Amino acid sequence: MEQKTSSTPLRMWREERSWHDAETEWDNGAARAAESSPIQSLKHLPKMVGITPDTAKNLKWKSLKWMIAKDHQRKILKGFLKHPLKYTWQLLKSSFKKKPFKRQGDFFLYGLNDLAEFESLIQDEKALLIVGFSYCHKPFECPSGRFSPDCIHDPLNNVCRQCFIGKAMNALPQKNSSSMCIPTIHDIGAEIFRLIDLHPTKMLIFMITACEMTLEMFGDWGNMVALKGIGIRLDGRICNTMRAFELSELGTKPGLTTLLPPTQSKILELLHLRYSSINQ
Ligand code: SF4
Repeated sequence: MEQKTSSTPLRMWREERSWHDAETEWDNGAARAAESSPIQSLKHLPKMVGITPDTAKNLKWKSLKWMIAKDHQRKILKGFLKHPLKYTWQLLKSSFKKKPFKRQGDFFLYGLNDLAEFESLIQDEKALLIVGFSYCHKPFECPSGRFSPDCIHDPLNNVCRQCFIGKAMNALPQKNSSSMCIPTIHDIGAEIFRLIDLHPTKMLIFMITACEMTLEMFGDWGNMVALKGIGIRLDGRICNTMRAFELSELGTKPGLTTLLPPTQSKILELLHLRYSSINQ
């Protein structure tokens, strides 16, 4: 998934263009696309708890069981066996904490004290930034398919133009970044192991969207590889039970998730910081 580029030579956020001009042009294009061929969206936000009380019980155990039992292609096991002692120790250390993260609103912080720390890290152009969007946030009309890691983020495509993922992917500077949409927890885990292998001396940081339940369930696994980063909470038709999560991991996700407008703004603010530090 590393440094996938747009399928068209047109990029809204080019180096010679100001952030403001690029964003205005993107938004105007999105409004035109919505007028001519609007995509399906959530008509209203359902009121759903992040995790149902039953599901919240023994969540660490459920997470361990899922990671091992569903690792059909041994993606996680292979990565884990590269440094078994170090990873076991870090996983145990995290597991004994009440929560594997700190939280600031919709932002779950792993290995970080606050969001300000991430704002500073994202401006380090030498750090490899891993960006992941959960597939359930893709529009139903997504040209790359919904249950897929792919994303063409083509600014000329009417669906991509109305999609927040499309906007963020276009705004993400390509230098020292890696991006994907996330079909399953094993896919993103395998990708992180691959990037750790590929860049043993580089600092890796991540910014990933997911349901609250996933951010809670797999936080210890993020801490196991000791990467610093943020998980961003999705709203809308989220998974808040084990059954919904299981179906979603098989690609059955009939509902749409979304990011709340202030959360979207914060993501763009973070990308702007990255853009300014890379293009200065
Ligand atoms: S930008 Fe959105 S609609 Fe376009 S390919 Fe990516 S996820 Fe799908």
